Amino acid sequence: MRILGIETSCDETAVAVVEDGRLLGERLATQVDTHALFGGVVPEIASREHLRVLPRLYRRLMAETGLDAGDLDGVAVARGPGLLGSLLVGVSFAKGLSLASGADLIGVNHLWAHLLAPGLEGELRFPALGLLVSGGHTHIYRISSPTEFELLGRTLDDAAGEAFDKTAKMLNFPYPGGRFIDQLAQEAEPDTDLFPRPYIDNPTLDFSFSGLKTAVANYVADHPELVFGTMADPQAVADLPGERRAALARVCASFNWAVADTLRIKVERALKREGRMESLIVAGGVAANTGVRRAMGVVAEAFGIGLTLPGLSLCTDNGAMVAYAGWQLARAGYRHGLDLEAIPRGRIVPQDWERAGSGV
Ligand code: ATP
Ligand code: MG
Ligand code: FE
Repeated sequence: MRILGIETSCDETAVAVVEDGRLLGERLATQVDTHALFGGVVPEIASREHLRVLPRLYRRLMAETGLDAGDLDGVAVARGPGLLGSLLVGVSFAKGLSLASGADLIGVNHLWAHLLAPGLEGELRFPALGLLVSGGHTHIYRISSPTEFELLGRTLDDAAGEAFDKTAKMLNFPYPGGRFIDQLAQEAEPDTDLFPRPYIDNPTLDFSFSGLKTAVANYVADHPELVFGTMADPQAVADLPGERRAALARVCASFNWAVADTLRIKVERALKREGRMESLIVAGGVAANTGVRRAMGVVAEAFGIGLTLPGLSLCTDNGAMVAYAGWQLARAGYRHGLDLEAIPRGRIVPQDWERAGSGV
């Protein structure tokens, strides 16, 4: 079964083809430099860019793989969560292609796609505990199969990636700054007393990262020498002079630790509570973080379960994960009618897919 995946939920336009669980080809265009001028994603610009770029990426992918629309069994598209205008570009394109080619239309939950992505690199084992740590979400799921997700915990305010990016902004790193924090963190040992591990003294599996952000803001206010001047581009970070570099590295290492250890505590709690799991899957952009990867390795080992982490390019938004999740849904019998809607936020569950699938 051959499935095209389309991703336009935020600021990456991406397409990929997956055949029977294997990646045949992919194309991605990021808008990150455009939005960096504004220090964050500008929704109107994002939709226009998707509209401009998506048809070209699609044509290029088809040329590279030697396929045409008639060779596709399904067209999978990220239907949410994400920016409404951006999602609509992908969803409309997918509907047109499905209508023209006769391929099935499959709406995909972007967050589930993140968590299923490592299935492209190795076998996924279920039931799995899933930790999604991305730019907009911090979710813990019980994943019973590729099409059965139960949400166990979530952030009450900022997502982990948001906490990274806002902290990076306070430290004057270029946008999006998560990876710069991680990079500098490698050069120092964390001071575990510097920042609190937020929202751990409660029995829930929920997160709250806003307190950590405030702690960093207070620290920066007390140490203005850390953040003077601008660092508009990555080279400025690479060229940071010695003393200031060492002080910033200590802040970054401590922040990395506070986030990673908070995630570790909640994941351990979930694993204790949920009974036997076959694996721990960690996905989303923050799964690229060195501290998070290390902390999750420790948890998985302690519980004697497999750790599934996507390679770095599969962590952030991409088309391959949408195509793969679409393939999993398609082979489980799910598909949509042309009444498929984009869902910018909220629950996106299989019942909804079945209902929509019986429509057209
Ligand atoms: P969502 O999937 O919730 O809609 P998104 O798709 O925008 O959000 P991703 O692309 O999964 O999010 O991840 C982007 C986030 O990952 C950004 O916040 C970015 O700073 C963060 N990130 C990327 N690499 C690292 C890293 N090495 N350390 C920490 N954060 C990182
Ligand atoms: Mg992005
Ligand atoms: Fe994402």
